[in-house]
Amino acid sequence: MSIAKQILDLSEKYRDYTAENLSKLVKIYSLSMQEGDVAAELVRQMEEAGFDEVWTDPLGNVIGRIGNGKKVLAIDGHIDTVDLGNREDWDLEPLSGLIKDGYVHGRGTVDQKGGVAAFVTAGRIIKELGLDNDITLYCTGTIMEEDCDGLCWKYMVEENKIKPDYVIITEPTNTNIYRGHRGRMEIHAHFYGLSSHGSAPERGKNAIYMAARAALDIEKLNEDGLKDDDFLGKGSITLSEFVSNSPSLCAVSDYARIHCDRRLTVGETKESSVKEIEEIVKGMKAKVEVLHYEVESYTGLTYGMEKYYPTWAISESEEIVQTGA
Ligand SMILES: [Zn+2]
Repeated sequence: MSIAKQILDLSEKYRDYTAENLSKLVKIYSLSMQEGDVAAELVRQMEEAGFDEVWTDPLGNVIGRIGNGKKVLAIDGHIDTVDLGNREDWDLEPLSGLIKDGYVHGRGTVDQKGGVAAFVTAGRIIKELGLDNDITLYCTGTIMEEDCDGLCWKYMVEENKIKPDYVIITEPTNTNIYRGHRGRMEIHAHFYGLSSHGSAPERGKNAIYMAARAALDIEKLNEDGLKDDDFLGKGSITLSEFVSNSPSLCAVSDYARIHCDRRLTVGETKESSVKEIEEIVKGMKAKVEVLHYEVESYTGLTYGMEKYYPTWAISESEEIVQTGA
């Protein structure tokens, strides 16, 4: 019998086991920075499945290893979820983990605990069929992804020194294979005006007007100033926040700030995106800043990164894409 057929047969055999594991993960409320309980459950599941080694790193990521070979693979799924939202919008209890009509229900079943339950079963099957001779496989239940996508893997690569040759990310893609994604970054532009009495605005310089002009230029930039790519499409930028300040509500505003959500396509970088905004605010008393993220994980470790998540795209002919297809 071919290996593919054996894997399929075992996947079928472990269908309920996989569903039960997923249900247990879904029942545990696990917002970003609060993943301790779900991490402990995942450790238990990986140990039960027969992984060679299972541990939690200082940040709180769960890592299960199988094999010790030269080629290093990773399969990743984040174990945090977004919050439950409005309870009245749910037909079923969001944390029920209910298994019904061939589906597991609840927050996080798709994004991304389903991927996690699947790689636990994959580990079990790999051990059972003895497919772990030539590889080192890391299955990673990562944390804080919903709050700062990329931070967990920055830790994995830079602190844990795990540098896989190939990574499979189990983000939901309607069971299609995705081989790239637009990048993202968060940028602030600060505007410094000059306050004067509200009865004599001509004596001051209104920061709100400065920021408003820049905001409209950014709208134009999005319409026709950004790069396009055949595979990933256009880069984009939008404002998600406008903040202003003034010594008094009877005075000219002396400070304003806009928050830009920038999506990056192939050929767009942090430097090029910052330069675009700097070009727009040229001549104004303004400062452009890429934001920094830094918080305490559930283990108590504080860790951070710049909020710049580069574009990535791999060729259709890559071995991992073809193997998956
Ligand atoms: Zn996700």
